[in-house]
Amino acid sequence: MSALKWGLIGASDIAATRVIDAIRASGGHIEGVMSGSAGRADEFAAVHGLRYATTDLDELLGWDIDAVYISSTNDKHFDQACRALRAGKHVLCEKPLALNAGDAEAMVQLAEELGLVLAANHHLPGSPLHAKVRELVADGAIGTVLSAKVAHAVLLPQRLRGWRLGQSTPGSGVILDITCHDASVLNPLLGNPAAVTAVAVQQADWNIGGQEDAAMTVIRYERDGTPPVLAQTHDSFTVGYADTSLEVHGTEGTIKVIDAMTQDTKGQVLLTTKAGIRDVEVDCSEDLYVIGLRAFAAAVEGTGTPTATGREGLMALKVALAAQESAATGRTVRIN
Ligand code: NDP
Repeated sequence: MSALKWGLIGASDIAATRVIDAIRASGGHIEGVMSGSAGRADEFAAVHGLRYATTDLDELLGWDIDAVYISSTNDKHFDQACRALRAGKHVLCEKPLALNAGDAEAMVQLAEELGLVLAANHHLPGSPLHAKVRELVADGAIGTVLSAKVAHAVLLPQRLRGWRLGQSTPGSGVILDITCHDASVLNPLLGNPAAVTAVAVQQADWNIGGQEDAAMTVIRYERDGTPPVLAQTHDSFTVGYADTSLEVHGTEGTIKVIDAMTQDTKGQVLLTTKAGIRDVEVDCSEDLYVIGLRAFAAAVEGTGTPTATGREGLMALKVALAAQESAATGRTVRIN
């Protein structure tokens, strides 16, 4: 297949720092960018060597492109994705896919009806670390899974302390930003997320936006024929001196992944059983976003599936929305 031709919707940090390089490394070509500001679009196109810049989504959709990458703020994803799909473009949409499950479901259905690829840009499930954990669990290396713990507490870089923390951009806050990534890892590992309980707070003195910047969540997973699994996540913008990790506990052992949730895959997988602790070899040399972009291109070609399909993006969103609702109401929220 010839190089996939892309349009970028959103002159964003994540496009600039990760995804443009990943598209190019996966063999794709980027035609241009759309931004809400003409000045920012022009500057972004110049910096990244793109031919076109526009503020008009219809103009972008009229370019000779196969796919769009949407990395605007979360409140814009649904409308932009639906317009791109209706224009016949495959869509790689940043997480969260939408601000409510109904909109995300509609996006997924639209893509299915039109026979187009819709994927959520959850980079973590494509990590070789997480693929190895799924493989070990499926092979019975730790027996029956009982519980999991995700540590995903980080310090939000200064340059990203804008809309994520404020009340004025719908879809801000730590839960839609980070808990949703955790769910993209836990859901394929543990089964169906059935119920969620969360507590969220505002901690940082630099967080003047009013949104929660730290959350702890418990998710109950169910799977036919096995006991329910409890998963616990700690997601934060405020913790500067902690490692990220994933632990999965089973009746016969524990898997611990060190550096499990970072963008750069320098992690380590440790398997503890009655035989002792084994360092499980994993090749983490490849960039996670390149893995994701290559999987997306294969899906368009019909030879593979995305790292996170639209439906998987929807399920991750459902967990995050349930956590938000639980944190707001103080109640456990069930997921259909
Ligand atoms: P940014 O704040 O960098 O970009 C979001 C939007 O904000 C842009 O589309 C742009 O709008 C606007 N914007 C950017 N810079 C400026 C500026 N200087 N002045 C005014 N407006 C500006 O956000 P992120 O890149 O951090 O996040 C974008 C999306 O990507 C989110 O949905 C987020 O959840 C997701 N994300 C995903 C990650 C992953 O690993 N999968 C990691 C980080 C983010 P316009 O397009 O109009 O120019």
